[in-house]
Amino acid sequence: MLAAPRGYCAGVDRAVVTVEKALEHHGPPVYVRKQIVHNKHVVETLERRGAIFVDDTDEVPEGALVIFSAHGVAPAVHEAAHRRQLRTIDATCPLVTKVHKEAVRFATDDYDILLIGHAGHEEVEGTAGEAPAHIQLVNGPEDVDQVVVRDPERVVWLSQTTLSVDETMTTVNLLRKKFPQLQDPPSDDICYATQNRQVAVKKIAAESDLVIVVGSSNSSNSVRLVEVALEHGARASYRVDNVGEIDETWLDGVGTVGVTSGASVPEILVQEVLAYLTERGYGQAEEVVTAEEDLLFSLPKELRRDLKAARAAQA
Ligand code: SF4
Repeated sequence: MLAAPRGYCAGVDRAVVTVEKALEHHGPPVYVRKQIVHNKHVVETLERRGAIFVDDTDEVPEGALVIFSAHGVAPAVHEAAHRRQLRTIDATCPLVTKVHKEAVRFATDDYDILLIGHAGHEEVEGTAGEAPAHIQLVNGPEDVDQVVVRDPERVVWLSQTTLSVDETMTTVNLLRKKFPQLQDPPSDDICYATQNRQVAVKKIAAESDLVIVVGSSNSSNSVRLVEVALEHGARASYRVDNVGEIDETWLDGVGTVGVTSGASVPEILVQEVLAYLTERGYGQAEEVVTAEEDLLFSLPKELRRDLKAARAAQA
């Protein structure tokens, strides 16, 4: 059973196309701060075309072009790039930017902001960097006891975009018991793509003996898909970067296999898994569609400006 939706979301598609077009337009090397999206195959493919992935802007030569990844960056990173006169293209997903804006707004109104997310994840570092004095990180339900706020009547929760919806709501319910005036974000922070992929995997998990999730180990939404599959009926579930990581013994005694992929995963990697399963007698996959997606984001404004200028120069 093949879950749909799966794979690329609008934010990942935009970020990958941004690097491709920057390479075409400016020529290599193009520097990218952090992995543009959390997928090994995507990063290696772009490296072969001339992208250089760095951990921070101080590794980028002065004056060079650097792209910020889909996960977003703190204002301090923009400032550091500006000080070193780097040319920048910001490929932060617009749905991450939305959470940044919420953080700034609630900090301006002097709220305590409880950011539910995973410590050390780039997106969380970027969002927290918007208002470090107002934001405290809540990793999950186990953190709730330790949360202290200045004024329980001025407290709001926000979240990372790629969390488990169910676990986040458990955390929020515990926080609300502690702070009954806890305010919700103005709209869902867990993005449409994360939610849709979790709904789809729940549906196939209930009927699968094994669920294979294609995605990299640092991809938060891919790792969540394994957890959600196990919570919703799959007898076993494993994450693999690619078909080469499947252990044939996982298939022992397995009648139905479910397959899905995280939001940063190219479809080719899923098709290779399906071909592997077909060779082992699992037949044609039945696609189980729980939502249709047609969202598209326009390219970052800096890149659109460069491409427009190039078209004008050619005309
Ligand atoms: Fe944007 Fe969601 Fe995709 Fe992250 S997973 S890039 S927030 S659409």
